[in-house]
Amino acid sequence: MTVSNLNEHVKAIIEVGKRMGQKNYTPGYSGNLSVRLGNNVLITTSGSSNGFLTENDLVLMDFNAKPINSDKKPSSEKFLHIEFYKQRKDINAVIHTHPAALTAFASAGLDLTEPVMPENVYYFGGIPLAEYGMPSSDDLVKNTSKFFKDYDAILMANHGVIIGGKDLEDAYQKLEIAEEYAKSIIYAKILGGTKVLSKEDADKVLSLRG
Ligand SMILES: [Zn+2]
Repeated sequence: MTVSNLNEHVKAIIEVGKRMGQKNYTPGYSGNLSVRLGNNVLITTSGSSNGFLTENDLVLMDFNAKPINSDKKPSSEKFLHIEFYKQRKDINAVIHTHPAALTAFASAGLDLTEPVMPENVYYFGGIPLAEYGMPSSDDLVKNTSKFFKDYDAILMANHGVIIGGKDLEDAYQKLEIAEEYAKSIIYAKILGGTKVLSKEDADKVLSLRG
């Protein structure tokens, strides 16, 4: 990893954090972003605000969450990110955040696994709900990481969402799709309820996932 490479990843995280802020997907100090860089992870620091990141708000750590040549503190949810990378070789970027609509489902104890919109079925299969664990706790990692093997996006009960992507752009696009999908489901429920796809139609979309 050269310094200029590292700087590119720093810039990319700052840029995606800003986009998340503009969309109001990352209220206040909530949430954290990371990318896998070989045997290390570049992650936002504890207490940083994703919409307004600077170079100082990022730290390189190893897979034991130990900062490399830095006294900065990695995000308190660092072990969630590390666990996602450990379980999924195809995931190279992770976003954890508390956007309003997805967090509404997580707070109501509802998952997003019903097949309603083909696009959502295609990108996620479904978005399951992991049991509650205190923020930053081993329980939270244990309860949430059960789903990493089979899902790219997981709701965390009474908390928020975590999304993995093949790169940072992919993770961001999936966050946008998932959050806007959650809004559509809420609107549909206000309009009288969702019409779920038939099993046959859902299976047709699932078969395209590869
Ligand atoms: Zn959180």
